[in-house]
Formats: sequence, structure tokens, C-alpha cells
Amino acid sequence: MKYYDITIIGAGPTGSTLARVLGERYKVLLVDKRPLDQEPSKLIKNCGGLIAPDAQKALAGFGLSIPRDVLVSPQMFSVETIDCDNNLVRNYQRHYINVDRERYDRQQKHEPKRYISIQEWFPNDKNVNQFVAIFDKCVSDFYSWIIPKDDGILFGTAIEVER
Ligand SMILES: Cc1cc2nc3c(=O)[nH]c(=O)nc-3n(C[C@H](O)[C@H](O)[C@H](O)COP(=O)(O)OP(=O)(O)OC[C@H]3O[C@@H](n4cnc5c(N)ncnc54)[C@H](O)[C@@H]3O)c2cc1C
Repeated sequence: MKYYDITIIGAGPTGSTLARVLGERYKVLLVDKRPLDQEPSKLIKNCGGLIAPDAQKALAGFGLSIPRDVLVSPQMFSVETIDCDNNLVRNYQRHYINVDRERYDRQQKHEPKRYISIQEWFPNDKNVNQFVAIFDKCVSDFYSWIIPKDDGILFGTAIEVER
């Protein structure tokens, strides 16, 4: 039988965030009445699925990003306001990320990839004078770099850490 320190009911953004924070110190059980392991056949949750700049900032603070497969078209950076009382239409810039909310909730359990970075000094005997970015899938799915500094170069790469 498994034991948990804390049980959280509801795996929406609030419950998932709390579970992520507490999960670093406690054994947490996150429960939801929706079958989150199944692909939803329809929109279940009442939500527009627009992630506003403040929410984007909060996600960034947790080191999280939005997986591509929860994005839906179009991605929007402007809002049209329609003021019927004064017969005015205006546009202003505001960048939302447009997601499928059900799929987004199911992705919350995914954690970002982790990388270790290796960087070393070498003599600049090839006279490198540019920042160089090297993309080579055999080495990394990120990239490697060369940064010239005085008579030397910094040569580094980032390699994914297996969990
Ligand atoms: C019509 C509408 C449109 C919206 N559009 C947007 C938008 O575009 N952008 C935006 O940022 N916000 C939007 N919101 C607000 C946003 O949906 C909420 O702020 C957000 O979902 C709150 O997250 P939460 O985790 O607190 O609650 P919820 O997302 O509601 O999560 C609660 C979870 O608890 C589960 N649960 C409930 N009861 C039980 C139970 N008894 N046992 C087990 N599990 C249970 C539910 O299945 C659910 O997964 C919208 C809200 C509405 C109503």
C-alpha cells in the first residue's frame, strides 16, 4: 500500500501548481474527477484557454513552457474591443497564448527537460572572432557554442540529463 503526506483534490492550475511546489519536499497524491489519462472527446472545462502575459510570467517563474501539442490556431497578439454604447471599435496589442484547455491540463504533469552544461577554456589559435552556435544532433538536441574572449575561447555545450 502506498502512503502520501498530502492529498490534493483537483488537478487544475491551482492544484497542479501546489502539487509541483510541495512535491519537492513531500509525497503528494493529486486527484481529479476527470479521467486525465484519456484524450478528451470534447471541451469539458469552462475556460477560454487564453494564457495572458501575467500567467506566462508565472509559468516562466516555474521554469515551465507550453508544449506545442496544446497550442491551437490562431496565436493572437491583438485585441479588438467593440464599444456598442459609443459605437467605437479599437485594437490594442496584448499577447495571449491560445491553448486547448483540456489538453493543457493533461500536460501539467510533464516537467521540462533538464540539461547539464559543460564549458571549458581553450587557446584561440584559430583566430575565432564571432559568437559561434553549432547545431549537431549527435552531440545535443540543444546547441553548442564558442565565445571568443581575449586570447582564448569558451567552448561549451548543453546535454540532456536522463531522469
Ligand atoms: C467561461 C470561462 C472562461 C475562462 N477563460 C479563461 C481564459 O481564457 N484564460 C484564463 O487564464 N482563465 C480563464 N478562465 C478562468 C480559469 O478557467 C480559472 O481561473 C482556472 O481554471 C482556475 O483554476 P483552478 O485550478 O483553481 O480550478 P479548475 O481549473 O476549475 O480546477 C479544479 C479541478 O478540480 C476538479 N474537481 C472538482 N471537484 C472535484 C472532486 N469532487 N473530486 C475530484 N476532483 C474535482 C475538476 O475536475 C478540476 O480539474 C475562464 C473561466 C470561465 C468560467
